[in-house]
Amino acid sequence: MPEIDAEKNATTVVTTLRAAGHVAYFAGGCVRDRLLGLPAKDYDVATDAPPDRVRQLFKKTQAVGAAFGVILVRLGGTMIEVATFRSDGAYEDGRRPESVTFSTAEQDAQRRDFTINGLFFDPIESKVIDYVGGQADLSAKVLRAIGDPTARLMEDHLRLLRAVRFAARFGLTIEPATAAAMNAASPLLPKISAERIADELRRILTVPTHEAGYRLLWQHGLLRPILPRLAGDNTRLDEHHSLLLRLEPGEAVAFPIACLAMLLDVRWQAGEARDDLVSYLAPAEAAKLVALARQTFRLSNDDLETIADIARHVHGVLATPSPDDARLKRFLARPSADQARQLLDAIADVGTQTGRIEALQPRFEKLSLGEVAPPPLLTGDTLIRAGYRPGVWFKHVLDAVYDAQLNGLLADPDAAIALARQLAPSPPQNA
Ligand code: ATP
Ligand code: MG
Repeated sequence: MPEIDAEKNATTVVTTLRAAGHVAYFAGGCVRDRLLGLPAKDYDVATDAPPDRVRQLFKKTQAVGAAFGVILVRLGGTMIEVATFRSDGAYEDGRRPESVTFSTAEQDAQRRDFTINGLFFDPIESKVIDYVGGQADLSAKVLRAIGDPTARLMEDHLRLLRAVRFAARFGLTIEPATAAAMNAASPLLPKISAERIADELRRILTVPTHEAGYRLLWQHGLLRPILPRLAGDNTRLDEHHSLLLRLEPGEAVAFPIACLAMLLDVRWQAGEARDDLVSYLAPAEAAKLVALARQTFRLSNDDLETIADIARHVHGVLATPSPDDARLKRFLARPSADQARQLLDAIADVGTQTGRIEALQPRFEKLSLGEVAPPPLLTGDTLIRAGYRPGVWFKHVLDAVYDAQLNGLLADPDAAIALARQLAPSPPQNA
């Protein structure tokens, strides 16, 4: 039971600090999660002991955020962040305070972002310590900034996305003054780094509550600053034309397909070609989406390749009048096939190409029961032995022969080489 161990070890940290004469509590997310009856991801401890004192009291420590008074304590196999109560100084870059001063529990609660995140818990007395009204907001399912919402969002713009993340994840209503402050502050979002934005978007768009998160991004005007080149003046989410809202509702989704669905949504909704969603997946358009995905979501090259691959294969089956088995098997053989099928389902669900996609489903089901990527009957080596030289047409011949194999038209390697000879009768000697 690693979770119970984590709680036990975090409690030992608190007990040790107390025994040394300090105030110490569980703080932030783990308290919120406990009150919601959810397992805590990790335990943070807040204390009045200064960082040096924390380092003296525990054997295995690491100063991770020295400037902020954060010490990582390793105890019984658990990593626990121990932070000294602090007040944040002035913010100058829209993200981090210029300085911090060590302070009291109450002041430490005040510098936290939302009331539900501003709670402490005393694990020895089993008591919540609430300076910010977080318990009431948690029971009423309300997300509320601590203090003046405008000021809090002005000092750290990342809180715009944190608000969306917590509200969506826990099904909270954003309290009106906080919501109004978000709407006003949303144009400032690009002032924080693309990496941080991307990191929050990943956490918002890949979890089972991604639908709610996406709606909130639109509602609070956050998509336009994220995707200025695409969104233009479009600030309203047209729910009837949203792929992302239809992508695996209630389920976790992979980040590449979430990004692609979001880019297609915005592209489609901002564009004129309402009927022609599929045209945005054509090679030249897809390349633009991949470039935008790189900038906006800071995806790894593998993830970008996945996006390109999904676009290529989904476009392939939708833009071909009657895709043959070979095309569907090649589609299913890709590592990204699950994500590509999720996109197809969403496209059908949004009312585009619905009949065609529904007709493909039983074929996908049937084909995926068999082998979708059998070893090729004809390889480049065989072709070379037959007198062919590698050249431009070489791969075309191999592809065409493999397609025939996937379509069940070739019985054995002899039939494969015979087809190759038919496609390129005399081996071009200097091709
Ligand atoms: P999660 O379960 O997603 O980790 P969390 O509440 O633990 O949620 P963290 O980002 O780990 O969130 O931060 C821990 C705590 O630190 C928060 O609960 C909050 O009190 C405080 N905090 C974190 N980031 C900010 C911020 N940008 N502004 C103000 N307070 C913050
Ligand atoms: Mg946390």
